[in-house]
Amino acid sequence: MKDILPNNGSFEMMTLPYDPEILGVISNNTFAFHYGKHLKAYVDNLNKLLPGSGLENLPLTEVVKKAQGGLFNNAGQVLNHTMYFEQFGTNNHEPEGKIKELITSDFGSFEAFKKEFEQKGVSLFGSGWVWLSLNAEGKLVITQEVNAGNPVCSGMQPLLTFDVWEHAYYLDFQNRRADHLSALWQIVDWKVIENRL
Ligand code: MN
Repeated sequence: MKDILPNNGSFEMMTLPYDPEILGVISNNTFAFHYGKHLKAYVDNLNKLLPGSGLENLPLTEVVKKAQGGLFNNAGQVLNHTMYFEQFGTNNHEPEGKIKELITSDFGSFEAFKKEFEQKGVSLFGSGWVWLSLNAEGKLVITQEVNAGNPVCSGMQPLLTFDVWEHAYYLDFQNRRADHLSALWQIVDWKVIENRL
């Protein structure tokens, strides 16, 4: 898997590759809290917990695979949120090319894929993430991960994720998690997802 954030002895917050105002689906208020406060806290905690862990010099995905406890939780949340915020944009809202071929062959259609992905996001009890990943056999799979979980811990290559922690949607959608998840398709940039293959 490509190195998602450079490790320069500590990790910096990813920069948003778009102006949040132009996306339209997630409010500025949610960005201010979700990106500006929640992600910032995970990055700060990761940098506090890394020194002396023995994992200081590893790429972020390797830290996530090897860490436990608080270090795992914060490293996992930095990886998860970096992938989450990077995958949105104003273009490429339909899969094309290789990722489209894989979705069609493994789920039947883009519509069938979206339905299963949303259903797994809605039915995840508590806080966590729903993921599309490539498994060891090169097949696309949808999995639920609780809390800070990431499919790299199961030997998979994560491609797309929706955050189902309440902090991701409560300001905009309150308890309507399903409405939030179905709205997110409007802003996924599938070119970013394809580049993760
Ligand atoms: Mn979140």
